[in-house]
Amino acid sequence: MGTLPAMAESAIPSTRSAQPAKGAPTSLSGLLPFLRPYRGRIALAGVLLVLAAGATLLFPLALRGMIDQSLSTAGHGERLLALREHFLALFAVAVALGIFSAGRFYTVSWLGERVTADLRNAVYAHVLKQSPEFFETTRTGEVLSRLTTDTTLVQTVIGSSFSLGLRNVVMGVGALAMLVYTHPYVMSLVFVAVLLVVLPAATFGRRVRKLSRASQDRVADSSAIAAEVLNAIPVVQSYTGEAREAGRFDNATETAFRTGVRRTRARAVLVAFIIIANAAVALWGLYQGTQAVLAGRLSAGQLGQAALYVIIFAGAVGILGEVYGDLLRAAGATERLMELLASRSPVASPAQPLALPPAHGGSRVAFSGVTFHYPSRPAVPALKDFDLMVAPGETVALVGPSGAGKTTVFSLLLRFYDPAQGTIALDGVPVRDLALGDLRGRIGLVSQEPVVFSASAMENIRYGRPGASDDEVVAAARAAYAHEFILALPGGYDSFLGERGVRLSGGQRQRIAIARAMLKNPPLLLLDEATSALDAESERMVQAALESAMRDRTTLVIAHRLATVQQADRIVVLDHGRIVEHGTHEELMAARGVYARLASLQFME
Ligand code: ADP
Repeated sequence: MGTLPAMAESAIPSTRSAQPAKGAPTSLSGLLPFLRPYRGRIALAGVLLVLAAGATLLFPLALRGMIDQSLSTAGHGERLLALREHFLALFAVAVALGIFSAGRFYTVSWLGERVTADLRNAVYAHVLKQSPEFFETTRTGEVLSRLTTDTTLVQTVIGSSFSLGLRNVVMGVGALAMLVYTHPYVMSLVFVAVLLVVLPAATFGRRVRKLSRASQDRVADSSAIAAEVLNAIPVVQSYTGEAREAGRFDNATETAFRTGVRRTRARAVLVAFIIIANAAVALWGLYQGTQAVLAGRLSAGQLGQAALYVIIFAGAVGILGEVYGDLLRAAGATERLMELLASRSPVASPAQPLALPPAHGGSRVAFSGVTFHYPSRPAVPALKDFDLMVAPGETVALVGPSGAGKTTVFSLLLRFYDPAQGTIALDGVPVRDLALGDLRGRIGLVSQEPVVFSASAMENIRYGRPGASDDEVVAAARAAYAHEFILALPGGYDSFLGERGVRLSGGQRQRIAIARAMLKNPPLLLLDEATSALDAESERMVQAALESAMRDRTTLVIAHRLATVQQADRIVVLDHGRIVEHGTHEELMAARGVYARLASLQFME
C-alpha cells in the first residue's frame, strides 16, 4: 500500500517550500559552530589573505618609483641600473603575491571542503534520528536536495566567495586608504561616488536573496517528485502514468527554471549597474588626475600609482557586489539547513535514562490505559484505552481487520511515537524512561515488507548484529530456514541481493528478515506477518522459520495465517483501536465473535 497515498500526497505542494524567504546574510552565522573547530586554519587563511592583498597594494608604489626615478635620473647608465632594480623589486612582489595567493587558495578551499563535509554529515545524522512524524511531513527528495544542493552552495561561500570578498575588502580599503593619503581631496569625492553605487546595489541585492531561496525551493520540489515516483515505478508503469509523471516533473523543473531566470535577471541588472557605475567613478578619477599632471601638480608616476589604486578599488567594489550575491544565495541555503538541523524529534532519549533489568527467557511487556492519535489524524484514536500484559516467553497473536491498530501497537513499543495517555513498560520500566538505544536493542522487528539492502546476503543478515562472525550469521540463516536457498544463489552468502532485494522471492525476503532478527537474538520479537500469498513450499518454510524465531523469547505477532495464530499462547482481537476479544483459539471459536468470523474466512487480513 503506502505508495499510492504517498504519490497522491506529493501532488500537494510542500508547506515548507511555501514559507516566505526570511532572515538575512546574518543567517550565515549558523555556520559558525561548523567553523569553530578550524580556528587555526581560518587564522592562517586570514594572515595569507592580508599578505596577498598587501603585496597587490605594493604594486602601484613600486610602479611609481619605477616611472619617476627612471625618468628623473640623470645619466643613461644610472637610469638602466635603476630600472633593473625596480623590475627586480616588481618581480619580487609578484613572487610574494603568487606564493601568498596559492597558500590562501589552498587553505580556504580546504576549509570549504571540510566544513561542507561536516555539515553534510551533521544533517544526515540528524535526519536519521528523526521520528516517523518528521518523514510524514518532510519529503525524502527535499532532504536529499538539501544535503546536496544547499551544502554545495555553502561550500562555494566558505571555499571561495567569502575569502574573495574578504580579500577585496582588504584591497579596496587599502587602495582607498592609499588614495586618501596621497590625494585627500579627490578621494573624498570618490568615496561619496562609491556610496552612490553601493547603497542602491544593496537594496537590489535583497531582492536577489529572496529569489535565491525561492529558486532552491523549486529545485527541491522537483527532486522530491522524482524521488517519490522512482520509488513507485512499478505502480506508475502499470497505470501507464509515465507521460503524466514526466509532465508533472516537467512542470516542476519549468517552475524552477523560471524562478532561476528571475533571480539571474535581477543579478544581471545588479552586475551591469555595478560595472557601469564603477567605470564612471574610475574614469572620472583618471580625468581629474590627467588634469593635475598637465597643470604640474602631480608627477606621471603619481598618476600611474593613483590610477592603479583606483582600478584596484573599483575592481574590489565590483567583485564585492558579485560576492554579495553569492553570500545571499548561500544565506538562503544556510537558513534551510539550519531549519533542518533545528527540527527536534518529538521522541528522544531522556536526559537521565533508567537501566533495564536483565531479561531471561524473554521480556515483559505492559500497556496500560494507552490512548494514541497519529499526529496527522488527531480526530480518530488509533488505539483507545488499550491494556495488554505479556509475560516473559509468551507468544501473543494480534488479529483484527485492517486498520484495527495492530501495527500501531508495534510502533508505540518501539517508541516511534509517544501515546497521549497511558504508559507502556518494557521489563517493568516505562519506555519513556529508557534510552532509545537500550529500548530498541531489546526488540527485534520483522516487518510485513521486509527490507533487503543492496549488499550481500551475509551483510544483509549481519545488519541484525554488526559484530557477528560469519559462523553466527550462517547459524541464524539455518535457524530461519534461509541457509539452503542462500547456498543455491550463484555466489552463496556473497551474492549481491540487489537494490531492495529484487532477486529474491517474497518468502525468501521474509526468511532473510527473520534470520536478521534471530541474529540480533532480542528478548522481544515483533513479527508482522506478510499478507501476500506465498506458494505452498515457501509458506511451509516461512512458517517453520517463524516457529523457530518465536522460541525462547517473548513474541508479539500480527498474524494473518491460521497456522500462526494456532501457535500463539493467547490471541488478542483488535477492532477500531480497542481489544474486543481475547483468549485461545478454541475459546474464541466457541465465542462466535469477530475472531470466529475472521477464522471462518481462513484469512485474518
Ligand atoms: P493495522 O495494522 O491493524 O492494519 P494500523 O495500526 O496500521 O492498523 O492503523 C490503525 C489506524 O491508524 C488506521 O485507521 C490507520 O489508517 C491509522 N494510521 C496508521 N498509520 C498512520 C499514520 N502514520 N498517520 C496517520 N494515521 C495512521
